[in-house]
Amino acid sequence: MATETSSRLDSEVRRRRTFAIISHPDAGKTTLTEKLLLFSGAIQIAGSVKARKASRHATSDWMEIEKQRGISVASSVMQMEYRDCVINLLDTPGHQDFSEDTYRVLTAVDAALMVIDAANGVEPQTRRLLQVCRARNTPILTFVNKMDREVQAPLTLMDEIERELGMSVVPFTWPVGMGKFFGGVLDLGKDQMRVFSPGEERATQDDEIIHGLANPVLEERFGSAYMEAAGEVELVQEASPPFDETEFLAGRQTPMFFGSAINNFGVREVLDALVDMAPAPGSRPALQREVQPAEPKFTGVVFKIQANMDPAHRDRIAFLRVASGHFERGMRLKVVRSGKELRPNTVVSFLSQRRELLEEAFAGDIIGIPNHGVLQLGDTLTEGESLQFTGLPFFAPEMFRAVEVADPLRTKQLRAGLTQLGEEGAIQVFRPVAGSLLLLGAVGQLQFEVVAHRLEHEYGVKARIMPARYNVARWVTCDDADGGERELKRFIDGNAHRVALDAVDAPCVLLEYAGELRAMQENWPKIKFHALREHA
Ligand code: GDP
Repeated sequence: MATETSSRLDSEVRRRRTFAIISHPDAGKTTLTEKLLLFSGAIQIAGSVKARKASRHATSDWMEIEKQRGISVASSVMQMEYRDCVINLLDTPGHQDFSEDTYRVLTAVDAALMVIDAANGVEPQTRRLLQVCRARNTPILTFVNKMDREVQAPLTLMDEIERELGMSVVPFTWPVGMGKFFGGVLDLGKDQMRVFSPGEERATQDDEIIHGLANPVLEERFGSAYMEAAGEVELVQEASPPFDETEFLAGRQTPMFFGSAINNFGVREVLDALVDMAPAPGSRPALQREVQPAEPKFTGVVFKIQANMDPAHRDRIAFLRVASGHFERGMRLKVVRSGKELRPNTVVSFLSQRRELLEEAFAGDIIGIPNHGVLQLGDTLTEGESLQFTGLPFFAPEMFRAVEVADPLRTKQLRAGLTQLGEEGAIQVFRPVAGSLLLLGAVGQLQFEVVAHRLEHEYGVKARIMPARYNVARWVTCDDADGGERELKRFIDGNAHRVALDAVDAPCVLLEYAGELRAMQENWPKIKFHALREHA
């Protein structure tokens, strides 16, 4: 390690791209993921992403929920090499009930690829996810999918994206026709047209290319569809600003590409754009200081924990985003929160979705560390430095349930199961200051069902999930300058019937109505109420 040249670190960082695909369910995220893997050579046969989904259903009980609802509950990490880059693609659960998990995954990426169904335009889940990216100034690339269908006019779509998402859109390609008459795309940068032909078998480098956007052949072959597209392009180029890298990197401008994922069309261009335009890992803020990716010492942050990914092993994997340095298998790591030392020998990476033993990793990479509760969401790992990365969000739940075990002899298992599921972020668990029933908090109804199902199948506990009267939660703190701890204690004692502690013992006030919150804020001016908790 001592001889590690900083130029090696530099070049490893520079060739990394870490991103997630954000989209509304059914826009084509799975299909596009599959095709990206296919074009990067990570897998030979398209269809294996779906196949894996299917085999997981077959081997994992709780995944039945996913099957039943046809949604993607779990998210995963895929690594591929393309050109001279190492690309880490983080999958995000599509269903809105799992958006909390998704938000945390989005803290681990440097860019996002937004997939839009050209027929449906901007849909609710896209909007919500994009807001998270915007809040973090994550650069966004836009892929408008399903041009082989009857879809909205491209100008309408572009307008909708600009208006709804509040960012300017710069088309890099423009479609000629759509549906049955989809002819291909005009590549505005390369001054050529790529001709569409349907079919999954083809690789995109086989696309027929017609050089020159003013080439008379285009009008001959594509007639009015070409004329219309050419007119639109002229209009768009006059009206919209040129591509500006700074604006893109700040998340204020998005390059837009058109294609059809299922037909392998436009996929390679997106992959090239990721390599050419998406940023390499940058610096990350910690409470103490800003950490640079090519610093020699290793640091990383846990952004996701998943229990029992493989039911045969009943393991628990902490997903860690490397923030700096060079990770090597067997190195000693410090869990800053607890001061505990960790020497993971079985760290895994996720090369083309097979879990493989990992030898080394650099900033931007995601590593998986199997552990038994040593690692929690938001944990920072270092070679010894006391450092706490910030920015991993926990959202105040919007739905609550009380939970009770059917068989009192299994209370211990219930607590153990809930602790683990809570640490994983599948649900938030609250212990009321007064009273003994545990409370569950979620942002979506489906989370309760998943938790009940997993409690039963993974921990052997039949839990009774019952209504609770709360609808609003706020974490409470009080600044030291204002008499800090004493005032907070006074608040908690005075509201014991509606204060609960979360998984890290942070106090939270639970209310029935948002209106109560306003009254409470007036009565307790020194107490701060937070809808978001950022780190452990
Ligand atoms: P996800 O829910 O976003 O992961 O979406 P999927 O990738 O599972 O796709 C949803 C549906 O759209 C599937 O039936 C796909 O076959 C279909 N689909 C995906 N891409 C295209 C496309 O380019 N054209 C058409 N016509 N259908 C597509």
